[in-house]
Amino acid sequence: MIELKSATKAYGAGNAVGPLDLAIAEGQFVALLGGSGSGKTTTLKMINDLAPATAGQVTVGGQPLDAEPGWKLRRRIGYVFQEIGLFPHLTVAENIAVGPKLAGWDAARIAARTDELLDLVSLPRAVAARLPAALSGGQRQRVGVARALAAQPAIMLMDEPFGALDPVTRDDLGREYRALHERLGLTTVMVTHDVMEALVLADRIVVLDAGRIVADGTPGALMSGDQPPAVRALMQTPRRQAERIASLAAAPAPGTPGEGGHG
Ligand code: ADP
Ligand code: MG
Repeated sequence: MIELKSATKAYGAGNAVGPLDLAIAEGQFVALLGGSGSGKTTTLKMINDLAPATAGQVTVGGQPLDAEPGWKLRRRIGYVFQEIGLFPHLTVAENIAVGPKLAGWDAARIAARTDELLDLVSLPRAVAARLPAALSGGQRQRVGVARALAAQPAIMLMDEPFGALDPVTRDDLGREYRALHERLGLTTVMVTHDVMEALVLADRIVVLDAGRIVADGTPGALMSGDQPPAVRALMQTPRRQAERIASLAAAPAPGTPGEGGHG
């Protein structure tokens, strides 16, 4: 479905990202995990031609990206931006309608689709007339997801979509999006710098470091087994957190009757 063959992005002299070899099958949920500047956003943008590879090849659905103009490709690929990226002067409904309008849908079809999308991302239909500034952060990100899904793409690219949210909202939205991914049969590539988020949501985690892939496997494989030091270091935090939580759960709560007070 998505294939990068020695895909490379250079800005000026050195390679910013790549060469990358990566094949993503239809229906997969892939997390692109890495620190700041590791090349996550650039990799996403190579896939939808916003930052065309300067060497190597990218194919989507078997078609090389240079076979069609980028704007045409991007109609088939939903994109959720890192910095929310809603148009502040457009209402929620108008934000959602941007893609369908470009695709030439008529007003009735757009209105019906907008209602359907608001339901899909669990937003009340009443928010349709509001400006983004009148929404909570979580609601804005739901609109971002709805907008990306508007023209019924088969592929969703998401750039740290829930990164700016509080942990509870973030967890809720992540799980809800994962359910949408299943229900709609999407192929999803989600960028995150959060190891926990990648472990919980993805089928497969691709770890980037300095523009190169340093690990690629299931969450289970990355947590265990023979990983390079950079990956082991990355997985140390969630492992420590899990151990701490397990030990807290096993210990008797303070003041539990029958415990302690022997001497
Ligand atoms: P991440 O999303 O993982 O934080 P990016 O993909 O944004 O990383 O950046 C990867 C590398 O490419 C960084 O070294 C960054 O400075 C460089 N880079 C990204 N965009 C540009 C650009 N437009 N011009 C020059 N260098 C860029
Ligand atoms: Mg980024």
